[in-house]
Amino acid sequence: MAVTFVQFMDWLRLTDEHVIEARSELTELDSAIGDGDHGINLSRGCAASSGKVDSEKPEYLDDMFTLVGMTLVSSVGGASGPLYGTFFLRFATSAGHRQELTPVQLASALEAGLAGVVQRGKPELGDKTMYDAMQPAVLAFRNAIKTGDVAEAALLASRAAAAGRDATADLVARKGRASYLGERSVGHIDPGAASTALLFQSLAEALA
Ligand code: ADP
Ligand code: MG
Repeated sequence: MAVTFVQFMDWLRLTDEHVIEARSELTELDSAIGDGDHGINLSRGCAASSGKVDSEKPEYLDDMFTLVGMTLVSSVGGASGPLYGTFFLRFATSAGHRQELTPVQLASALEAGLAGVVQRGKPELGDKTMYDAMQPAVLAFRNAIKTGDVAEAALLASRAAAAGRDATADLVARKGRASYLGERSVGHIDPGAASTALLFQSLAEALA
């Protein structure tokens, strides 16, 4: 079953809603090991990008996700704006001028987004960043579509992202602002990993 344009719009809308709901929580996580702006920055970015999509009404996936990526780069700021922006810009290019994607095309688009994050931030697994939630989620999605349907794959990806998020609590930060704390970053979940888990939770809900 192909993933439709409406489902992709639902993904963005649900992400927007979940990030706004979690704004204080994300800010608290970032206050513990960063500068406390993650919830505010990201909810501002989501609102700006939803506003752009509402006003420009893109009809193709590449146009919609390019708009989202560009808006996130220009409105979020901090480390996470360019990283999430790059994720969606690469996702857009891979998705192409289409209105729906097969599960395999969606897996490739998620992988392209992930590769953009790697290129931009140079994160490695265990660095205690959004990559620790995103990499296992994208991998789980790719593996799951080999045998299961797309809704099941998105659910497994969402669970993998949540597990990756939770595992960041035990890690010493090696990238971004939290790395300045060294060992003192242990015991706290990474805010970017928490927002990435929301992105995949939203995808699972949109494809359910
Ligand atoms: P800033 O640290 O500039 O205030 P944010 O608070 O918006 O930016 O985002 C912080 C999040 O960005 C971190 O929790 C982490 O997940 C992510 N991050 C920071 N640097 C990197 C990097 N080099 N690679 C991947 N993710 C990163
Ligand atoms: Mg911050």
